[in-house]
Amino acid sequence: MSAPQVNLTFPNGGKSSFSGGLFINNEFVPAQSGKTLAVINPATGKEIAQVAEADAKDIDIAVKAAREAYNNVWGEKVPGHKRGRLLLKLADLVEQHIDELAAIESLDNGKPVSIAKGFDFTEVIANLRYYAGWADKNHGKVIEVDSSKLTYTRHEPVGVCGQIIPWNFPALMFAWKIAPALATGNTIVLKVAEQTPLSGLRMCQLIKEAGFPTGVVNVVAGFGPTAGAAIAAHMDIDKVAFTGSTLVGRNIMKAAASTNLKKVTLELGGKSPNIILKDADLEQAVSWAAFGFSFNTGQCCCAGTRVYVEEAIYEKFMEKLLVKVKSIKTGDGFQGDTFQGPQVSQLQFDRVMGYIQQGKADGAKVLTGGERHGTEGYFVQPTVFTDVNPDSKISREEIFGPVVVVHKFKDQQDLIRIANDSIYGLAAAVFSRDVSRALETAHALKAGTVWVNCYNQINPQVPFGGYKASGIGRELGEYALSNYTNVKAVHVNLNIPAPL
Ligand code: ADP
Repeated sequence: MSAPQVNLTFPNGGKSSFSGGLFINNEFVPAQSGKTLAVINPATGKEIAQVAEADAKDIDIAVKAAREAYNNVWGEKVPGHKRGRLLLKLADLVEQHIDELAAIESLDNGKPVSIAKGFDFTEVIANLRYYAGWADKNHGKVIEVDSSKLTYTRHEPVGVCGQIIPWNFPALMFAWKIAPALATGNTIVLKVAEQTPLSGLRMCQLIKEAGFPTGVVNVVAGFGPTAGAAIAAHMDIDKVAFTGSTLVGRNIMKAAASTNLKKVTLELGGKSPNIILKDADLEQAVSWAAFGFSFNTGQCCCAGTRVYVEEAIYEKFMEKLLVKVKSIKTGDGFQGDTFQGPQVSQLQFDRVMGYIQQGKADGAKVLTGGERHGTEGYFVQPTVFTDVNPDSKISREEIFGPVVVVHKFKDQQDLIRIANDSIYGLAAAVFSRDVSRALETAHALKAGTVWVNCYNQINPQVPFGGYKASGIGRELGEYALSNYTNVKAVHVNLNIPAPL
């Protein structure tokens, strides 16, 4: 039995062929069960490939490979500067193949090729280079106690890391996970999302080409309740990093708690408030607000899906928002001027449409959108709801589609309470020309990221993560290094006499 092969033809005529096997020990192999799973193009609903489908047995094999690599050819056996060189090589290879990778991502996830290239893979490269820089700079320190001893800390790798990623930014989440883990000397068993396995598998070829030793990075496609759950519960995985829904995040934590208490970091859902104060630059606020909820077809955990507009500018804001949202170009990601592609799957399409129906049934007003776009694929019209009951489902639950609810507010103090009245706390934004009002608001919001006069700004250098049920730990920046290191304190006796 051999691993399945992926042969893609893009709507623009380009082609790409690579293995759809499980990437274990630097080889592409079939699943032990021989099973494969279907990959669907969300713009058409048609199957484009089959890839190997891992289950618990394959996870065991991948973990053994990662453990062996950790013990023998990686970890502290390879100095930081050499790990950094490998990450830089990988970044160069991704850059060389960026057009092919962006086309793969667009076909598999539905996002526009131009955004896959200009945002996703540009950020993949930036992340790999950023953490390459950290690989030889993440060290402990000497801690002054007294002259009787020398005390210092070491930042040691955690060991074998399990990483489970979602389908909304397939390649970027791959990079957010592997870059800090590899820079700090860990080995990896990563599960790509079953909906979007292709860009990750294509990048595995580049990982091999870059020269990472056998077994350092192992990547599998597979379903959550089988392959994903096997990672979360594995006794020989030292840490699990997860990005996805809050529901599954709870399961990951339970599995870790009831097995080996592996370290857990979680990046989960959100229902982020976006606050427009009356002294905001109106044109800018409207544009950023539209971008904030519709970017990536609303499939962003940090999407600005609750917009609060101060009463004095509400009517004008809504007028302009309507024009802006109506101008969003929805369609196939391979058409040059598309901004919004399809939802990723039939399931997600049905979920989003279900929320829209629920909103209508609950009496909210659809200002624009509210229907399916076109007749094939999983496209949803960008949708703006007003006159929404703040306790209704569409106002409180994460929809993960291009749907925003807009509320009017009068009193700023009350607004902070309302904005913070959510189980989530991933992101928030405030628009104002008054720096004191803007920063007072930013500091009062309970969220891991607050954008002032902008939205969806993400940089490799800046931490990202959630308050409350939006997660545990921070990705990106120097902060993410601590997810992947154990701190060891070493006490060296200089002249303390033995007490006994
Ligand atoms: P969504 O609902 O947006 O698809 P999920 O949280 O279900 O997000 O999926 C994110 C990732 O988590 C995917 O890789 C998925 O396969 C995985 N996953 C889903 N369920 C589980 C589970 N029970 N245990 C571990 N991983 C899971």
